[in-house]
Amino acid sequence: MNSRNDDVYNFIRSIPKVELHAHLNGSLSNRTLKKLVSLKLEMNPDINKEYLSIPCLSPVRDLNQCFEVFSFISKVVDNPHAVYMAAVDTIEDFYNDGVRYLELRTTPKENDQDMTQETYIQSVLKAITHTTETTCKGMIVKLLLSIDRRRPLKYAETTLKVAQQLIGECSNIIGIDLSGDPSQGHIKNFLPILERGKQLGLKLAVHVAELPDQHEEVELLLKMQPDRLGHGTFLHPDKNGSSRNFELLKQLQIPLEICLTSNVACKTVPSYEDHHFKLFHKINYPCVLCTDDKGVFNTSLSDEYYLASQHYSLSKDDLFKISYESISYSFCTELEKSLLRQHWEEFKKKT
Ligand SMILES: [Zn+2]
Repeated sequence: MNSRNDDVYNFIRSIPKVELHAHLNGSLSNRTLKKLVSLKLEMNPDINKEYLSIPCLSPVRDLNQCFEVFSFISKVVDNPHAVYMAAVDTIEDFYNDGVRYLELRTTPKENDQDMTQETYIQSVLKAITHTTETTCKGMIVKLLLSIDRRRPLKYAETTLKVAQQLIGECSNIIGIDLSGDPSQGHIKNFLPILERGKQLGLKLAVHVAELPDQHEEVELLLKMQPDRLGHGTFLHPDKNGSSRNFELLKQLQIPLEICLTSNVACKTVPSYEDHHFKLFHKINYPCVLCTDDKGVFNTSLSDEYYLASQHYSLSKDDLFKISYESISYSFCTELEKSLLRQHWEEFKKKT
């Protein structure tokens, strides 16, 4: 890309923004990773230092480096305090980028030491309370629990059980996310879990059509009428060569979470010019710009808006509209939505 247009970038930074597709572990910045390494050393002074060398700090990462970062993250975010620190830093990063409504998603982890799915979730909830009461006042943060399709079904069942225990006492858990390697795990196995989540009053966000030729799976997922769709790379007939499911999708108008950098870095789309956002934006289909894994892909929500502005010729008004309309696609209450809209409208009046 040519040199940055600072006027546009600064405007984007100043817009209050909504982030609806952010995985906690993938969102950790290098600064946070360094802090987590120090914590690990403090807790285990005898640990082999090579085990803790951060795999990649270069600004541009290829996919292999991204996988290395993911596996490294799972080594350092392996106890409740690390989860808490990771969540605090991530929420603050989004706040400092102008995000005023955030839905964080994460697969609750458990291990043989002192972490259970419950203590994991409690740590994230504690971080939400701490940040929204101190460093990130005025921000609303919610949590989606991820079901990882690579893991055994039993694991997801525990997640649902813990969610059921916690949602009564905490309004911040608002949804279920279905994610993980799209080539693994048959989707049919996970449908009853998603249904149960719905019955508990949780909203559903599902990663869908990340690979071509998954027509049957896409149909099953669409028929469940989830509340939002992640990526949807191969939903458009121009992308998968088939209009199967497209009419149903247009009827349902389920908002799409668009993650430009992530899709190009993972090579599920060849370039920004070829990104399906262009096709969906053209037909006024509801879309939200999101980061996916801002740490791993070295991006921010402002960067994603900027990329969209440059590659799809979006005006400042278009960018504000995308942000404003994202409020409607969020999973918070109607009262919270109206408070957010007021805040956005005040910003608009000032510009
Ligand atoms: Zn994702």
